[in-house]
Amino acid sequence: MSPDRTTTATAPLLLENGLLFDGRGGDPVRGGAVLIENGRITFAGPGAAVPELPDGTERVDVRGDAILPGFIDCHVHVAGPGTAMSHAQLAALPRSLATFLAAPRLRATLEAGVTTVRDLGGADAGHRMAVDNGLLVGPRLQIAIAMLSPTGGHGDFRMPYQETGGDHGLGRLADGVPECRRAVREVLRAGADVVKVAATGGVWSPSDQPDDDGFLEDEIRTIVDIAAGHRGKKVAAHAQGRGGIRNAVLGGVASVEHGYAIDDELIDLMLERGTFLVPTLTTANTDPDPAKAAPWAVEKKLHWQRIARTCVPRAIERGVRIAMGTDCGIAEHGTNLRELAHLVDCGMTPSDAIVAGTANAAELLGLSAEIGTLEAGKRADVVVARTNPLTDIAALADPTTITRVIKDGTTYKNLA
Ligand SMILES: [Zn+2]
Repeated sequence: MSPDRTTTATAPLLLENGLLFDGRGGDPVRGGAVLIENGRITFAGPGAAVPELPDGTERVDVRGDAILPGFIDCHVHVAGPGTAMSHAQLAALPRSLATFLAAPRLRATLEAGVTTVRDLGGADAGHRMAVDNGLLVGPRLQIAIAMLSPTGGHGDFRMPYQETGGDHGLGRLADGVPECRRAVREVLRAGADVVKVAATGGVWSPSDQPDDDGFLEDEIRTIVDIAAGHRGKKVAAHAQGRGGIRNAVLGGVASVEHGYAIDDELIDLMLERGTFLVPTLTTANTDPDPAKAAPWAVEKKLHWQRIARTCVPRAIERGVRIAMGTDCGIAEHGTNLRELAHLVDCGMTPSDAIVAGTANAAELLGLSAEIGTLEAGKRADVVVARTNPLTDIAALADPTTITRVIKDGTTYKNLA
């Protein structure tokens, strides 16, 4: 969010007669209303308490539809093709075409009801600037530039016999504390809002397993300390196996991404430190396509899918703080809110799933003062959905259910 972003001046807007979810997890308000002026929310609450309307206010009766905060996806890769192409096809694209292809993905993400995303590798500052200055239509972006990774780790996409190349621009390799210092300073220099580290191996990297350690605790702590010294920027750790989750949490990261093999000891540690888990169940539940993925990747994926389905529900049951993230870019773009139903399948209440995708996600991104709830003073990021999410949360995954999307007070989608 650069201070010089241009906002279109629009008339004040009142959304009324909605089922209002404010993002804080209480009971929704029937007959709720939201008043938007100059890009900000000036009122959210029961229709009977709406203040006197400014001259020229447009009134929209949403006829009982749900009014929700704009959702926040804490884990996407807008530069990733989803399931549309193989890694080999992606690697063969000219850089310019690969960049242009992000435009329809950003639009689809916004139209799915997601008004803010955290891109954990692949997008650069140009993606963020293009959305901020209105060249592209999309959600507000926080970006990580590239994933910092040790040699042979999850950010090392060279085939085992390759000395150079093959990184898809997604990884930045570093080994040992001095190289980690340089690598984190490089992504901060390139405009990173958040730093991504590989604390374990992963499914799509060719030289490791998801329970191999990535960076060690001292390397992670170095990166966390340097990021914190740059306006309090946070670190997100790709971490699937137990050893790496432990290194990441002890190293001080703000969030464990995936966390598939989380166990009670790690849950205790995360509860103690307030570490967020972003379980990315959307990608965990996307079956690999044997026609597009290498055989070793298919095998790893199916194995780790089973682990996630066993361990993530335990973390939810024990109250680990959850923020919504999908890994869209690996999974398909534009149906991000599938994640909410997956969270409910893992034992979360629909109300808590909404909080994971709004207030909790805003807190993880350090944006609680600006977004994540429908409250006077916040940026007007608002979604209207033709469903009651308490009885059918899965319906939110269908973009045609999302009838209206407002970001910073500007309406970008209106199916009414
Ligand atoms: Zn990812």
